[in-house]
Amino acid sequence: MPTKDQVEALLPQTQCQRCEYTGCSPYAEAVANEGAPINKCAPGGAFVLEKLAGIQGRKPTQKEIDGLESERMWKAYIDPNRCIGCYKCVDVCPTAAIVGHNKSLHGVLEDLCTGCGLCLPTCPMDCIEERDSHETLEGRWERKNIFQKAYEEKQQRQTKKKNELKKTQTKLRQKKSTREETLAARQALFQQWVSSE
Ligand code: SF4
Ligand code: SF4
Ligand code: SF4
Repeated sequence: MPTKDQVEALLPQTQCQRCEYTGCSPYAEAVANEGAPINKCAPGGAFVLEKLAGIQGRKPTQKEIDGLESERMWKAYIDPNRCIGCYKCVDVCPTAAIVGHNKSLHGVLEDLCTGCGLCLPTCPMDCIEERDSHETLEGRWERKNIFQKAYEEKQQRQTKKKNELKKTQTKLRQKKSTREETLAARQALFQQWVSSE
């Protein structure tokens, strides 16, 4: 049976979660080690289905082909007149395709946008449009390593940010407890002084 790495190397790396897993890597794990169906990756289409069946030493069944969801190729476009720069879409975009700073206009780097759709429900201004793309399924698949790299780098940045936030919170807590200890010591001294009067 193929390994998780072999399966993952064939997936389109859009990280869209349409397979109902949290990304390509968990889906690859499920296919390789838990017998998950191989026709859950809509962005891969029949093209990837065939490759996945191939590494299992077979052809896809008609049932698997029929069960594959269709995929429309599109890219996100942000309407500059409505974007309020809230940053919500930046946080969820798996391939770091949206750029912009808090409270400033956001834009989409076309080459990194896979049309995964994860940004759409997060926008409070409903200003992210789906614009048809002429890219083919195979063309996007060819760029899977770029998407994977962008995704992994983003994960690393987010982990670093979380760790830094934790460190700052711990420092603040320590400062607070030092302040509270000082206050308690002062109160104890005061009590001592009052009772010795
Ligand atoms: S690209 Fe395919 S395997 Fe990866 S998350 Fe989307 S549906 Fe799942
Ligand atoms: S911009 Fe939106 S649709 Fe494009 S990759 Fe990012 S989250 Fe997905
Ligand atoms: S979620 Fe919408 S309003 Fe907020 S930064 Fe993104 S595009 Fe702009």
